Amino acid sequence: MNIDIECIVVGAGVVGLAIARELARSGTDVLVLEAEEGIGMGTSSRNSEVIHAGLYYPQGSLKARLCLEGKKRLYDYCEERHIPYKRLGKLLVATDASQVPYLEKIAAQGKANGVDDLQWLTAQETKKLEPELDCVAAVLSPSTGIIDSHAYMLALQGDAEHAGAQVVLRTPMLRAQINADGSFTCEFGGDEAMTLTCRTLINASGLHAPTLARRIAGLDPKHIPGEYYCKGSYFTLNRRAPFSRLIYPMPNAAGLGVHLTLDMGGQAKFGPDTEWIEDENYLVNPEHVTAFDRAIRNWWPGLPENALEPGYAGIRPKIVPATSNAGDFMISGPADHGVTGLVNLFGIESPGLTAALAIASATARSLTAS
Ligand SMILES: Cc1cc2nc3c(=O)[nH]c(=O)nc-3n(C[C@H](O)[C@H](O)[C@H](O)COP(=O)(O)OP(=O)(O)OC[C@H]3O[C@@H](n4cnc5c(N)ncnc54)[C@H](O)[C@@H]3O)c2cc1C
Repeated sequence: MNIDIECIVVGAGVVGLAIARELARSGTDVLVLEAEEGIGMGTSSRNSEVIHAGLYYPQGSLKARLCLEGKKRLYDYCEERHIPYKRLGKLLVATDASQVPYLEKIAAQGKANGVDDLQWLTAQETKKLEPELDCVAAVLSPSTGIIDSHAYMLALQGDAEHAGAQVVLRTPMLRAQINADGSFTCEFGGDEAMTLTCRTLINASGLHAPTLARRIAGLDPKHIPGEYYCKGSYFTLNRRAPFSRLIYPMPNAAGLGVHLTLDMGGQAKFGPDTEWIEDENYLVNPEHVTAFDRAIRNWWPGLPENALEPGYAGIRPKIVPATSNAGDFMISGPADHGVTGLVNLFGIESPGLTAALAIASATARSLTAS
């Protein structure tokens, strides 16, 4: 079979772009094919833009390891490529005595994961840092920060293209097949339908990665997880927030709790909440404001009336249903499914933005592992 291109990466979100950069810089000929008309229009532009410290995830999990590695590399990368970021720090708060053991557990989990700069604060110490914040105890995570995610993705795209990769937009992959010689024949739709053959196929299509993997003829479906959507909506604050750090309540099973984040322009937003949905939609239901108001007042009793406005929403690409514990990232390579040259990235929810550089290196390694 004639090969058109050595490697095809499907999806130009932060993960696909980071993988394209990693592979192109190691000398691979890479083509990134993206369904939308721009890069990063999926989950990568519908998130909190937080550089996570790595507190919550089970020790040894991919989320824990790649978040820690990714965070360090991301801060270095921001410096190197002049990507706007701020190491604001975050306060994880217990709002009543019953939450203190949970706060202690998360702090211990963070420490076990290698987050070695956490500081335990009393209510008085917290008040000195953030006078409007009400809590009984808090953990300060100084290494948590925020980033301009679009500048980050543009830098990744720039690096990838500088190393010879090409990014082609408006080109959805429809299906693929594994050929007898181990190559892949991939069919694309869009403005100009085309068929391309490659040696390496990376499925970094985010939310739809399991559906797309099911369209790769020759891949045993037992290696493909389920596809579940957990929507997270945000409400913005229609005035300046009286906080200078990110504020997080205790997490729940599917998300990190309705927290306060600030963007690079100082705009405060609250969210994301958790809502399991069947079909992809990004509408923010204004009626959720009541639940947001109630949740925020647990730690900010001074929230002014009518200060919240519907913002935007993102969807967590879950590979386990609502009834299960949070799943891990799944970087499914040849050692997992037995198909040389194929990597499917499943369940790359938070902290995928933070971890993207490390996910890219793990993907490259998985191609050579047998
Ligand atoms: C509400 C929310 C908040 C979050 N907050 C944070 C945070 O603060 N910090 C953090 O580290 N992480 C956060 N995350 C996680 C982070 O946003 C994701 O892990 C990351 O953006 C995933 O990137 P991706 O490239 O895998 O997916 P995506 O950004 O979704 O990219 C996939 C791309 O593939 C394209 N595509 C899909 N199908 C096809 C096809 N058939 N052919 C071609 N192209 C296709 C899509 O158009 C899309 O551009 C959050 C996630 C959510 C949902």
